Amino acid sequence: MNSPLPRLIAGVTCFVIAITIATWDKWALLFRVQTLDFDELALEEQAEGEETIVGPDGDKAEGEPAKKEPTEFILDLQSGESLYTVLRKQNITPQQIHQVVKALRPLFNPRNIRPDHDLHIVSKPAKDGDRQELLGLTLRPNMTTEIVLEAEGSKFRAKKIKLQLLEKNQVVSGKVDYSLYADAKSKNVPDSIINQMIRGFSYDVDFQRSITPGTEYGLYYKVFENERTGQQEAGDLQFAYLKIGPKTYKIYRYTHKGGTIGFYNGKGETVRKTLLKTPVDGARLSSGFGMRRHPVLGYSKMHKGIDFAAPIGTPIMAAGDGKVIKAGKWSSYGNYVRIQHNKTYATAYAHMHRYGKGIKVGKWVRQGQIIGYVGRTGRCTGPHLHYEVLKNGVQVNPTRITQMAGNKLKGQELKNFLHHKKAVDGVFETALAYDPQHIIQYG
Ligand SMILES: [Zn+2]
Repeated sequence: MNSPLPRLIAGVTCFVIAITIATWDKWALLFRVQTLDFDELALEEQAEGEETIVGPDGDKAEGEPAKKEPTEFILDLQSGESLYTVLRKQNITPQQIHQVVKALRPLFNPRNIRPDHDLHIVSKPAKDGDRQELLGLTLRPNMTTEIVLEAEGSKFRAKKIKLQLLEKNQVVSGKVDYSLYADAKSKNVPDSIINQMIRGFSYDVDFQRSITPGTEYGLYYKVFENERTGQQEAGDLQFAYLKIGPKTYKIYRYTHKGGTIGFYNGKGETVRKTLLKTPVDGARLSSGFGMRRHPVLGYSKMHKGIDFAAPIGTPIMAAGDGKVIKAGKWSSYGNYVRIQHNKTYATAYAHMHRYGKGIKVGKWVRQGQIIGYVGRTGRCTGPHLHYEVLKNGVQVNPTRITQMAGNKLKGQELKNFLHHKKAVDGVFETALAYDPQHIIQYG
């Protein structure tokens, strides 16, 4: 075909897409941006017939005029939905979808499309009927990849663009009001970072008894930002501290020469200890204050363990590596598990809702492995974990156990760590020095 029209359309499309890329958020102002939700669209269509639009001088316009200009749509993929389905919902013809799939395939398998992928299309009403003519499509399967399809006659041309990410430092500090998790959450700290922090401190800190209103904390993590879209993704926790009474706990993420990664305290000792102080997901612990249904008991002559109050179903973790020596109902303990860690020490977990996968007598478990879930079986009034530490078969106070310091880095590795620590401290202190809000991000 020699007609200049397809080339013109292609040219316009290229231009439109170029603008889209250059000014993603301003784009929304130029064209009508919609999120494709089928039900919503259907409702909108219904409403359109009844709607009358009042013009600026009071005249009644006749319904909504058919939009002939290209419109950008942000498509919301539902779980299990294919590219075909979502484009069909948008009134794109099967012929065009076939061409889209064909153009896309060498760069991205359309079967791998998922609801968390960014999918935008630009289309306009076709000359005949209700169909939409697809002009362009943008797919972002992850933060660094963008696939752009542009209509070229009846076909599509696809290209893959590598997006640059800016690495930023995010520093947050605060005082616990109700719970550490809730406070960090209120400062937009992602769950993955809060969990890394809580896990890092779980060897040394009893999250039920030691975190009280006023406990100070701080953390520093990496954020990767897509320069074009502003979309951010959290990297890893680099550093965190907790100030409990006179003691400040610090954890530094450090990568060994050999590539292994771990958290170390300021002296270069691994935070890993034989037993966890908090053998339950610390993010989900209920504040002990004002517990009406079940008092969160500490260790006493009458109560030979400590309690962790958390919602039913909260994961319970093995406090240390060991062998399961009891797993079953045991009178007032309800569903009960006991793990032998070495010749001397064992730990026990009571009132479980259910057991972890494969947990039975004789099974070897690793520290941190899920051995069951918080419940209220046996004699208790509210859901909690009753936790005991046994020394030669006799219960001892878990909060009183002094554990040996973790292995310390040596030689050049220690030197490297201390150098790294200095840099991390610098980032953290500089950030706090110039931000009174204590939530700061900089490149
Ligand atoms: Zn108890």
